Amino acid sequence: GWSSTDSVISSDSTAGESRAPAAYRVVLLGASGVGKSAFCSIFAGAADSLDSDECELCGDEVFEKEVEVDGEAATVTLIDTWDSEMGDDQDCSIHSGDAYLLLYSITDRSSFLRASELRITLRQLRPPEHTPIILVGNKCDLVRRREVSSSEGRACAAVFDCKFIETSAAMQHNVWEAFHGIVRQLRLRRDVRDA
Ligand code: GDP
Ligand code: MG
Repeated sequence: GWSSTDSVISSDSTAGESRAPAAYRVVLLGASGVGKSAFCSIFAGAADSLDSDECELCGDEVFEKEVEVDGEAATVTLIDTWDSEMGDDQDCSIHSGDAYLLLYSITDRSSFLRASELRITLRQLRPPEHTPIILVGNKCDLVRRREVSSSEGRACAAVFDCKFIETSAAMQHNVWEAFHGIVRQLRLRRDVRDA
């Protein structure tokens, strides 16, 4: 079999129709404290991948691994540099993704408003037909501290033309669904482009 290092090298050096899986850069965005790092550790540590112990740590905020979605492999690089970048540097994360997971906490209305702002910024930079975004309402385990209802989240996603999911990183609920969902969205766009 191929080691993950081999497949990374070959996906860089061979274009198009090789056996190397498609590679996607997925950026985590959202206010501080909403659970981006928690998402990263689940991505980095979970057994739900082809090589669970082969996640490459490229710096402590960028993780790359091969995941299998609907029977097809994809190399996903998850980028969590948003909080450590300030001011103009944040342009870097917001420009560097093929797709975005836009997180808020259902226990923190200001993080929901922040997600809306980020969504507007993103759409000014990226046309929706090429760049999928999933709005993620995290911490849905904290039922009694909920400040943002599911229907508000869903309505916001509908206005902004993106997918919506509620998750709990603490309970590991729906987090992989979000990662798999973004890969599916990327594939849909790729298939349309290639058609
Ligand atoms: P970041 O600033 O966006 O990277 O947020 P972190 O991942 O550091 O999470 C901030 C805090 O929220 C930490 O104490 C986490 O343990 C906690 N946290 C993250 N996700 C969840 C969740 O789904 N449920 C609960 N109850 N706590 C969470
Ligand atoms: Mg963090």
